[in-house]
Amino acid sequence: MSETIFAKIIRREIPANIVYEDDLCLAFKDVNPQAPTHILVIPKKPLKCIDSGENEDQLLLGHLLLTVKKVAEEAHLSNGYRVVINNGKDGGQTVDHLHLHILGDRQMQWPPG
Ligand code: AMP
Repeated sequence: MSETIFAKIIRREIPANIVYEDDLCLAFKDVNPQAPTHILVIPKKPLKCIDSGENEDQLLLGHLLLTVKKVAEEAHLSNGYRVVINNGKDGGQTVDHLHLHILGDRQMQWPPG
């Protein structure tokens, strides 16, 4: 997998507004927020996208979802929030390092664009 900007954030080579970190993952504020609260949760393991996940990643992928819950609680998103994973070109993925968007503090619409 080629190097991404998120790998540089994990290694602290470029700055980010980090809100949570543990052994497996990192959460930081999106630089171009699409909602008043917009946080990205990423694995430290350089998985490209959901399609890159294998059976051996089962615990890691579950951990990412539980981290979303934890980060959302810490961000006081008690009214609800949206979790988005863009996968590949048609999914609108622009950074080839798996990331879960947490969007909150506004009413979301459906269907998404
Ligand atoms: P996606 O389109 O799903 O691949 O989302 C990539 C997200 O990464 C976008 O919402 C970008 O605004 C965000 N992003 C790109 N570079 C940075 C950065 N250096 N720090 C924080 N967020 C970033």
